[in-house]
Amino acid sequence: MSLYKDQSLSIYNSISKEKELFTPLHQGAVGMYVCGPTVYSNVHLGNCRTFLSFDLVFRYLKHLGYKVRYVRNITDAGHLENDGESGDDPILKKARIEQLEPMEVVQKYTVDFHNIMALFNANPPSIEPTATGHIVEQIEIVQTLIDKGYAYEKNGSVYFDVMTFNEDHEYGKLSGRQLEDMIANIRELQAQSDKKNPQDFALWKKAEPQHIMRWPSPWSVGFPGWHLECTVMSTKYLGKRFDIHGGGMDLKFPHHECEIAQAEGAHGASPVNYWMHANMLTINGKKMSKSTGNSILPRELFSGNNDLLKRGFSPTVVKFFIYQAHYRSILDFSNSALEASEKGFNRLMEAFKSIESLSHSKKSDFDISAWKQKCYDAMNDDFNSPILIAELFEGAKYINAVKDGSASITEEDAIQLHATMKAFLYDVLGLEEVGKATETDGAPFDAAMQVLIELRNSARANKDFATSDRIRDELLAAGIQLKDGKDGTSYSIQK
Ligand code: AMP
Ligand code: ZN
Repeated sequence: MSLYKDQSLSIYNSISKEKELFTPLHQGAVGMYVCGPTVYSNVHLGNCRTFLSFDLVFRYLKHLGYKVRYVRNITDAGHLENDGESGDDPILKKARIEQLEPMEVVQKYTVDFHNIMALFNANPPSIEPTATGHIVEQIEIVQTLIDKGYAYEKNGSVYFDVMTFNEDHEYGKLSGRQLEDMIANIRELQAQSDKKNPQDFALWKKAEPQHIMRWPSPWSVGFPGWHLECTVMSTKYLGKRFDIHGGGMDLKFPHHECEIAQAEGAHGASPVNYWMHANMLTINGKKMSKSTGNSILPRELFSGNNDLLKRGFSPTVVKFFIYQAHYRSILDFSNSALEASEKGFNRLMEAFKSIESLSHSKKSDFDISAWKQKCYDAMNDDFNSPILIAELFEGAKYINAVKDGSASITEEDAIQLHATMKAFLYDVLGLEEVGKATETDGAPFDAAMQVLIELRNSARANKDFATSDRIRDELLAAGIQLKDGKDGTSYSIQK
């Protein structure tokens, strides 16, 4: 069904700073690229908010009948802050701390990321390429940029020449920064830097002896700069020009600005038609981030196992809470906001589930078709999920009015109301019923397991091995294996 022919979707384009009517390059098909996680630690709730924002975009585009190719990468090498002049690759750092191979770190956190996204009932992307799987293509594009005069080699490393690029292009157009201001504000070049100018950025870095993730190239044994992978992987799978590029607001500069410069320099074309940026999840007004230590992990949120939390919440309630804010607004995390979302979610689902048992009349007091279009209008207005949710509550209000006899509905309208609510709740928002017996219903189960693990630990501490062994053995008999490790006890379910 090509619903998109009847609906006109507008998207706020970060580069024009305006809402624009969405017209894909190829009729009926959409190419979308979203910057994925750097897999050196567990994703926190802030990261998840951004990925869930784009899951909503993906789902709605598919709901409208578009054939969507959604590419989201895994950064498994090369994410250096400040081009490595003030720090090491976080994956390597983590590998040293955990005494693992870098690829073990990558695997561990990629699996965790996938599990978390599955718990949130997010759809996997169509392609999930890795930086390390595209080294050859990255070397090729560096060579092209050198050949075209936009990059230079120095001591085995290659840098993008921003000044030269800016002579015939506009560096800074996404982030709204002027090169002159950048030059005026930028700190002095570090003495050991090989860059011609501080605003230049690394395309290829020669590896120091301790840098074990390294590949041969025409310039040195080294590794690619972080911005390069996204240029390579987006254009490889979506073409030199594609429809949508997304990521968190904090990636606008330098990451996305550099992506534009690289793609324009190498391919002579602006790569992206619609730039979308999701706003941040904050906690007490501060951006949730790993480095400031204010991050909450999704599993902690599901189990309630974090000092900032009063109790656990199911993944679908967390998702509902996230979608009650528009993706371009800041969302502040709090226990009370989550509790309010949970109440609202339960009310909405209860009303939805009762539609099928409503008694029907010969007339309706509610214009279902007009209401249905309002739901679409909300999503067509730059994926405005809070307005959509408000409309769904209008539907629920009507259902409750029919239930208490103060309004009536025809059978036909009840069918349409049910189908519309189902489509928006399940297909577009990707919500699930709490209490459904699936893996996603892990929160109460996990909380119960934590209680058992604590009881076993205290039994062991009291040398009551009869009790501790009994807990372990009876759980095993029930198909749950406890595992004691460095970081405490975890469990796995035997399939
Ligand atoms: P990273 O793994 O650091 O590259 O981040 C993965 C994604 O999460 C990026 O798109 C970031 O913009 C996004 N992100 C990081 N912190 C937050 C936050 N507090 N709220 C929303 N998105 C975030
Ligand atoms: Zn990226």
